[in-house]
Amino acid sequence: MLAARVLADHADTVVIVERDALSGAAPRHGVPQGSQVHALLEGGKQQLERWFPGFTSRAAAAGGVAVPTARFASYTAGVRKVPGTELDLLCSTRPFLESRVRAELMELPNVKIVAGRVTGLEFSATAVTAVRLSDERVPADLVVDAMGRASSLSSWLEAAGWDKPPMTRVVTGVNYATAFFRRPPGGYEIDASLAIQAPDAYLRGANFTPVEGDRYIMMVAGAGDDRPGSTTEDMIRRCLTELPAPFGTVVSGEVVSDVTTYRQADSRRRDYAACTRLPARLIAVGDAVASFNPIYGQGMSSATLHASCLSRYLHSGADPDAPATSFFDLQKVVVDAAWGISTSGDKAEVSLPDRLRRWLVRQVVEATVTDIEVNKAFQSVMQMETHPTVLARPDVVWRSLRARGNPRPAPTPPLAPTGGRP
Ligand SMILES: Cc1cc2nc3c(=O)[nH]c(=O)nc-3n(C[C@H](O)[C@H](O)[C@H](O)COP(=O)(O)OP(=O)(O)OC[C@H]3O[C@@H](n4cnc5c(N)ncnc54)[C@H](O)[C@@H]3O)c2cc1C
Repeated sequence: MLAARVLADHADTVVIVERDALSGAAPRHGVPQGSQVHALLEGGKQQLERWFPGFTSRAAAAGGVAVPTARFASYTAGVRKVPGTELDLLCSTRPFLESRVRAELMELPNVKIVAGRVTGLEFSATAVTAVRLSDERVPADLVVDAMGRASSLSSWLEAAGWDKPPMTRVVTGVNYATAFFRRPPGGYEIDASLAIQAPDAYLRGANFTPVEGDRYIMMVAGAGDDRPGSTTEDMIRRCLTELPAPFGTVVSGEVVSDVTTYRQADSRRRDYAACTRLPARLIAVGDAVASFNPIYGQGMSSATLHASCLSRYLHSGADPDAPATSFFDLQKVVVDAAWGISTSGDKAEVSLPDRLRRWLVRQVVEATVTDIEVNKAFQSVMQMETHPTVLARPDVVWRSLRARGNPRPAPTPPLAPTGGRP
């Protein structure tokens, strides 16, 4: 949808082809991850504001919940981190956020949505010329693949004799369980929180935020054989006995949904920048290019940044009858940055430079607990506002090493460590 927003400034007509029936703000088949917690990072929020000025306040007026930094708590191994930069989080469910973007997009007179399943592309000798649907074809001057991580574009390209982008997969084995709890008027003192068990066990963690409809969305995560159960009893037990007290507080409220589980086997990326034979008039964005370990919450924000890369490409005067190489090169900078962060803990075999980087990141993560400046730098990277090279800045490294001598605050205990309800 962000790519469509960008195209609307350049094209007479922008057609979005979507196989799902779209109505309201409910989870849908084509986005199976939509029932899970979806954090909108600051970097993504800024891009949404860029393309839909005033988006955040309109989304908040429509039911999204703004959470100021003071009411957000981040924990590592139970210890609450010092605050970072002031942020105003915009919290909602994924379907709500999507419905808000769609509503604003559909106000543009030259954007329309067509119901249908894309089954292939048509090509001339040098370019894409049309999109094929089950029972019709849509001619196009430019085609953008935004079909998500299961996109078939690579196979279609290969079948038509073009380069197939090399695919890289990194095993994540991440397991999510999510449920909703009633939020009292105004919420609790800590209104949103993220907890990871340890800097090197970040997949065992949990997250809650307020969402529209006076609810909290609560997610607990594990990896590999560590699978949060699919019952509310298991979720409530974990939150009450293993996680800092605010988690127990939220699950002490009324549970208003069943638990939905989700397992993601791998992170994957398709390297279009490495292709030497691509048709002209073809772009790919979002998860169709790179889909990350979800625990870092980068996917939607990455997609917004890809859309901004598309804008830069379209304004650059690049020849539309040549492959969009400069777009894919630009996009690669964004993908590399997010990929480097989100696979840093997942690769089983790592090179010496990778090991060094991992060690460095561990020092930084440890230091975020006690050093405000390090936490600000870390946060700006994790919120996709700055490039990860910020973490290798001499002042950040020096402060991180120095922070090893800082006294560590006591952990925030669970609400009911012994298992009895408070
Ligand atoms: C468990 C989990 C948690 C996540 N949490 C976060 C988070 O906290 N923050 C965050 O930013 N991201 C998160 N993500 C990632 C986020 O969901 C994706 O990065 C994002 O949705 C990608 O957007 P997209 O538009 O590229 O693809 P998608 O959202 O997957 O959309 C693809 C669309 O293409 C349609 N489609 C597919 N094939 C066809 C076809 N042949 N014809 C017509 N239509 C088709 C689908 O119906 C769908 O509407 C999470 C992902 C998972 C799995």
